[in-house]
Amino acid sequence: MTETVVRLDRGLEVFAPPERGTPLQKTGPAAKGLAKLGIASVQDLLQHYPRYHVDRTQLRTIAELSKLADGGGAAGDVQVHARVLKIGSPIRIGAGRTRTTKKPKTMIKGLIGDATGSIAVTWFNQDWVARALKPGSEAFFYGRLSRFGRELQMTAPRWEVVKTGKEPFNVGRIIPIYPATAELSSDGLRKLMWEALEGAGPIADPLPPPLRTRLKLPPRGEALRLIHFPDAKGDVFGARRRLVFDELFTLQLGLVYRKRLLERTVQGISHHRPGPGSLAEEFVAALPFELTRAQERACEEVAGDMARAHPMHRLVEGEVGSGKTVVALYACLIAMDGGFQAAFMAPTEVLAEQHHITVDELLTRAFGPAEGRNLFAATSKRPVVRLLTGSTPHPERQRTLAEVTRGEVDLLIGTHALIQEAVSFSKLGAAVVDEQHRFGVHQRKGLRAKGAAGEPDILVMTATPIPRTLAVTIYGDLDVSILDELPRGRKPITTTLAATPQARTDAYRLIEREAAAGRGAFIVYALRDESDKVELRSAKGEAARLAKEVFPDLRVGLVHGDMPSAGKETAMAAFREGRTDVLVATTVVEVGVDIPHATVMLIEDADRFGMAQLHQLRGRVGRGDHDSYCILATDVALDGATPAGNAGAKATRDPAAALAEERLRAVAGSSDGFKLALEDLRHRGEGQLFGARQSGMPQLKMARVLEHQDVIKLARDLAVSLLDTDPELRAFEHADLAREMRSRWRASELDVVQSG
Ligand code: ADP
Ligand code: MG
Repeated sequence: MTETVVRLDRGLEVFAPPERGTPLQKTGPAAKGLAKLGIASVQDLLQHYPRYHVDRTQLRTIAELSKLADGGGAAGDVQVHARVLKIGSPIRIGAGRTRTTKKPKTMIKGLIGDATGSIAVTWFNQDWVARALKPGSEAFFYGRLSRFGRELQMTAPRWEVVKTGKEPFNVGRIIPIYPATAELSSDGLRKLMWEALEGAGPIADPLPPPLRTRLKLPPRGEALRLIHFPDAKGDVFGARRRLVFDELFTLQLGLVYRKRLLERTVQGISHHRPGPGSLAEEFVAALPFELTRAQERACEEVAGDMARAHPMHRLVEGEVGSGKTVVALYACLIAMDGGFQAAFMAPTEVLAEQHHITVDELLTRAFGPAEGRNLFAATSKRPVVRLLTGSTPHPERQRTLAEVTRGEVDLLIGTHALIQEAVSFSKLGAAVVDEQHRFGVHQRKGLRAKGAAGEPDILVMTATPIPRTLAVTIYGDLDVSILDELPRGRKPITTTLAATPQARTDAYRLIEREAAAGRGAFIVYALRDESDKVELRSAKGEAARLAKEVFPDLRVGLVHGDMPSAGKETAMAAFREGRTDVLVATTVVEVGVDIPHATVMLIEDADRFGMAQLHQLRGRVGRGDHDSYCILATDVALDGATPAGNAGAKATRDPAAALAEERLRAVAGSSDGFKLALEDLRHRGEGQLFGARQSGMPQLKMARVLEHQDVIKLARDLAVSLLDTDPELRAFEHADLAREMRSRWRASELDVVQSG
């Protein structure tokens, strides 16, 4: 039998999956360093991108250095070509210095010079330098110039000995600085990079040339060479643009591809569009308020999705208090109109309980009380609603489960247990998932119901909004509706910072005044129990103290996450119904709790919370017609005189305190949840955005979702138009793109249909 070997000369595939990577043969310390950096293949190495580049194209004379320093322009790195004049042995130092965690232990002093003068050099904790550099050694030195007393010196310069006949590698150029390890320095990585690029040969470029030209992007091979070995500063920008685009393009291609595949192949339910006399429309008509335009738009989008033959997968992003629950209920009612069941899932029992109460009230308004259904089953349209959580008592639970299976329950409200456990719907038509972003393709598979004509429609809701471009990247298989409008008549919430005992007393007096007017106050703590490790106030400890010492005349309740559910419900109900005036709580009240007569939110140790979280907490008040207040209390000493961002007093200030103040002031100064969520992401890093998402997503090594939103949009649009013309990427010129998309995405993530 003859063997035909077809060798496709594509060149090196940078995004090849690990098993198709080109192994890197290295031994010794370099190998250890590479392993620590997670670099196993040539592909990994080439994608180990520089953190930044430094410009070492300018060589100075030592005489120029003094002039630079005198001109006040000493800041920044300089490099000189000089000879070692003197080099001392390491001397011990260290005693006397305090409060620095990394005390230098030894110091080497030396003197280097060229034809124009000489300059002192010092190194700390680098004894080996004294062995490597000898008087007479000729080297390039680069580092920071500083003045020590009157003397000019270079502190801890890096250097490269000049070898005759060899062009210097790390000077006289734009130098990339890599994330490095103890075993493998940035310079060492540069050497490996050079070898790898030389050895790799041509680099495959899957982008069809006409498209590449249209986008004005350099070829991939050139971009890789220039990011690692730029000839000029400008090279880096073009190279980066191409590499960022590449990461985002195959990411978007996969997202759109998967979405289209689902739409083509997964059977959904075509619900009727709500018309006159439908449950959904009657419900809206009976609401005690008009829908906002944003709510109307979202309902319209939901109705459109649900009418289609494939399942809806829509994300409703909304500002806190924008009225997402109504939209969710609208979707449930569309399903019920056709005789289907609906599920409404909340992240906590407190919230599930609250949704149950709200939904019951709203349905009663529109369709009469629940009991009516039993008496007038033939004529009543009143949907049957049940609550099911982890703490539903056993007999009731069995009864509810049986009713659900028999199709007697129209709407089942509960926690996530609803879909994870053995709840068997007879005809599930729609599912709402509140405050849950982790709801990916795979979880949806659990929602197929027996007896139903197809997969149910799904609506996911979140009050931690992110810009649309980010949402389509992170929740790429979801369509997005945005509620960017608050119901009319909402009063702005006055937010203040309280960092002194007086300010806290003022807050207590405010709470008393509001309670006297029949309104409620939340006091939220970061901790549940007393802890001796941190000096933070805890909900439990403070609840007792507040009731006794601060508010002897008020009724103080307590709710925290570890209470048994019944206790939680009792505490929430007492507060909701005005039987307690003050509710001391942990962050169990963070999401979704809706108590319109609550007007004060006092957050203790507010600096411990993220900005989006503070905004969420603040959103628990300002839900009725009364003026509302949010007080961010903190032990961080505020630097009120120096507005954040003013460099004035920064030098003497603890940077952590300055940052905390900046964040608190940002929350106090803005009521825009989208803006705060974005700033929060900037502070905490975007890693957690993807962390919250399923793991099969391609990694981003160079692209930053916050920074490159314009490229995300470009990549998304291109992916859509490409898949419009070639849905399976079967065209010859798209073959390499298809291959790369499959390399970057795990097959199980793309081929959702087969694995279901
Ligand atoms: P969130 O979007 O934060 O989940 P909710 O759905 O809990 O907001 O709604 C917040 C409050 O606003 C509820 O009390 C709700 O009844 C009320 N609400 C919802 N939509 C409107 C509207 N269009 N006009 C006035 N009030 C509304
Ligand atoms: Mg909500």
